[in-house]
Amino acid sequence: MIGFQVMRRDGAARRGQVSTARGIIETPAFMPVGTAATVKAMRPEEVASTGADIILANTYHLMLRPGAELVAQLGGLHRFMNWPRPILTDSGGYQVMSLAKLREIDERGVVFRSHLDGTRMELTPERSIEIQRLLGADITMAFDECTPFPATGDEARSSMELSMRWAARSKDAFEARSGAGLFGIVQGGVYPGLRAQSAAALVAIGFDGYAVGGLAVGEGQAAMFTVLDETVPALPADRPRYLMGVGKPADIVGAVLRGIDMFDCVLPTRSGRTAQAFTARGTVNLRNARHAADPRPLEAGCDCPACTQYGRAYLHHLVKANEILGAMLLTQHNLRYYGRLMRDLREAIASGRLADHAAGFAETEALGDIPPL
Ligand SMILES: [Zn+2]
Repeated sequence: MIGFQVMRRDGAARRGQVSTARGIIETPAFMPVGTAATVKAMRPEEVASTGADIILANTYHLMLRPGAELVAQLGGLHRFMNWPRPILTDSGGYQVMSLAKLREIDERGVVFRSHLDGTRMELTPERSIEIQRLLGADITMAFDECTPFPATGDEARSSMELSMRWAARSKDAFEARSGAGLFGIVQGGVYPGLRAQSAAALVAIGFDGYAVGGLAVGEGQAAMFTVLDETVPALPADRPRYLMGVGKPADIVGAVLRGIDMFDCVLPTRSGRTAQAFTARGTVNLRNARHAADPRPLEAGCDCPACTQYGRAYLHHLVKANEILGAMLLTQHNLRYYGRLMRDLREAIASGRLADHAAGFAETEALGDIPPL
């Protein structure tokens, strides 16, 4: 069981705290993605310095390499990767669908071949929960099938119903531990009726928190917000809500306005390795020649090492020369941007001015990057 306290509401948005055995998560929260027991290009203390209270690790990757039993033998994931704070593990369901080869899905679970070496493996709700326990997750996710997009109403229904039967098996397999929790995942594609049924089914089973899955898969922001408008009110007000795999800064702001408390996305870290930086004035591509002789900081006022110790010209040079430091600095800047984004949202909710803050955010982002020198 994990705690969740809502300290302040502003419209549908909440300023809260999730309490786990390994510490408090200030919400709304963004979780950097540490797929293979590392947030790529970052040391754990650097990740923490960006304002992250919790990271996400991927069950599918870690079960293939190095293996959940080995991680458990070495004292669990927190010790293995030197991250003492909370960790959320996904169920492996999404990535087995997107990465593994020769998948076969039936009532029992998914049989697949590893994308690394072709080994035949099985993932069931019971095995997914066991792996997440071996890893030592503070927040465990129920095993589900991420409904593909697009899907017909019938496809989305049968996929959602399978996920709900798997959610019940996940709950049965989960061993309650003090300060650790299990989240269920709402599915149902872009169909409001299915989303409502899925939410009701999960609430009947009873979870420590509720995630909205199957979004940001190509449906577009308007459809995503519509699903949230219809789904969030069906979730318990006293439990945290997590929008999986989202996302872009504007998506996060819109989802917080609709009552979402937690997010994860590879965007800040992946972009940091492909020369794309996030700033209050939108994204900046450091590969662009306009930065070649520009000594100004990437983002004025940012307190990260990339902005306080280097100029755009140097970052541009690192990116062009494929230097590792470029990925490290830009990843740290991007995570710091996301840390600031969430901090500012929390402060705006706490002072009852979220609507104004969201309008100001959109206005500033629309300005675009500072003009060239
Ligand atoms: Zn910065």
